[in-house]
Amino acid sequence: NAPASFRTLLELSRFHGDKVFLVYEDEHITFEDHFRRAATLANRLVEEYGVTKGDRVAIAMRNYPEWAVSFSAVLAAGAIAVPLNAWWTEAELAYGVSDSGAKVLIADGERALRLASTGVPLIVTRGELPEGARAFTDVIGEPTADVTLPDVTLSPDDPATIFYTSGTTGRSKGALGSHRNIGQAPMTVAYGLARASAVAGRDFATAAAVRRITLLTVPLFHVTGCFSAFITTLFSGGGLVLMYKWDPEQALRLIERERVTAMIGVPTNAWQLMSHPDFGKYDLSSLSTLGYGGAPAPPKLLERITQNLPNRAPSNGYGMTETSALAIGNGGADYQAKPDSIGKPSPVVDVRVIDPMGGDLPAGQVGELCVRGPNVILGYWNKPDATAQTFIDGWVHTGDLAKIDEEGFVYIVDRAKDMVIRGGENVYCAEVEAALFEHPAVDDVAVIGVPHDELGEEVGMVVRPAPGQSITLEELQTFLGDRIAKFKIPVHLWVRDTELPRNPGGKILKTHLRREILGG
Ligand code: ATP
Ligand code: MG
Repeated sequence: NAPASFRTLLELSRFHGDKVFLVYEDEHITFEDHFRRAATLANRLVEEYGVTKGDRVAIAMRNYPEWAVSFSAVLAAGAIAVPLNAWWTEAELAYGVSDSGAKVLIADGERALRLASTGVPLIVTRGELPEGARAFTDVIGEPTADVTLPDVTLSPDDPATIFYTSGTTGRSKGALGSHRNIGQAPMTVAYGLARASAVAGRDFATAAAVRRITLLTVPLFHVTGCFSAFITTLFSGGGLVLMYKWDPEQALRLIERERVTAMIGVPTNAWQLMSHPDFGKYDLSSLSTLGYGGAPAPPKLLERITQNLPNRAPSNGYGMTETSALAIGNGGADYQAKPDSIGKPSPVVDVRVIDPMGGDLPAGQVGELCVRGPNVILGYWNKPDATAQTFIDGWVHTGDLAKIDEEGFVYIVDRAKDMVIRGGENVYCAEVEAALFEHPAVDDVAVIGVPHDELGEEVGMVVRPAPGQSITLEELQTFLGDRIAKFKIPVHLWVRDTELPRNPGGKILKTHLRREILGG
């Protein structure tokens, strides 16, 4: 079998034996347990459900250990795993099932109810069984020690996964990833960690001698959870602590109880952890690294971590579904020196910034970021036009506006679709948001374009004040006056006492927000 296939990682993981791999509430699942269950399920999928190489099997669950078992089983059977977004409604789930053409569905009780109407064979864990469905535990029975993986031959370019993009800018697209994409992930993440630790003046070998226990604060059904946390831990022999959903207090409790060494999630998670009123009451001494990414991290976040969690190694990773998670990362002294940069590309990745005609731009100029490497997926599932537009000569066109400085550090300026064009001037929302985060009364913020007859668009901001604080438009405008050019300063303010709408990837749903505020 191809060394880069996921099966190899799974077989190797068995050598970690009785060490605890997955932790969920009071459940502790060892590497051996995980292997036996996954291998048994893989055999059942082949023998009882007729799953063969290239078939799609969808997984619709919260972050339960069965998510990991199912993912491993589907890939070991040679099929393509289709993780569906557990936040999706019945109609959205039905889209995922029909778009992927899934042959079998593996779901938790809550999702199973929403999937029953699809008529596709359903295996259900944790919850009621809709009519015709089978219980996960019945399907796998009592896995035995002599179980082996089904016999299938895979090569690195064979498709392995269809992850749906976060749907921040439109309808989610199925991203078709290969076994090669999976094979490179642990190496990319290990490099990022080693670099963050080394430049932070830490001895990576010493840090690595402590078993890495990762708390995952984001879903497994997006690439950060699956690649940077699950697959990397499967490979390295560390432990992975799962949460049903993000909850800062629960995270504090788990870090203390499980002696967590690394937290992986989105920037908001780290921010909310430190803002929690009970932050100081827990023993967080085991925590040595905080990795976040997937959404813009305001430079203020690093400052807060340095104050509240000193001597840790924070890192900001940039990646997308199309790059199988991490592609570019910043950490250690580099991050302290350039807190507004996403850092440098992973060693397997090439980057360019191009103008609209496709030409390379010199250092410092803003254009579209393109990424190439073994982490770039095969294309979009079922979407030849979008594939042809986004994947050109091996380069994925990210839709993100970026610049690269003389030293090779990359800066995300904005998403091309988020940028506000005010009377012909480009206003980058991410820049205005980062400036607003500097204000002590601002807890969360989204900058949006507001239609304007003469200028085309005006700049508006939606602000959630910190608890007990109030905020006025005039005060924020004065504050911004010292930090950014006048034309970038928002002229509308909406104050909001509730959380801003975010998707599970931590990204603010600006289309929702615009619709909510402006109608239409
Ligand atoms: P869709 O493509 O469906 O609109 P999406 O782009 O949000 O959704 P993902 O693949 O989950 O789906 O997210 C990738 C995007 O997240 C990147 O293109 C970029 O805009 C943003 N992003 C990721 N990491 C970072 C980071 N560290 N800093 C700033 N932005 C980031
Ligand atoms: Mg995208």
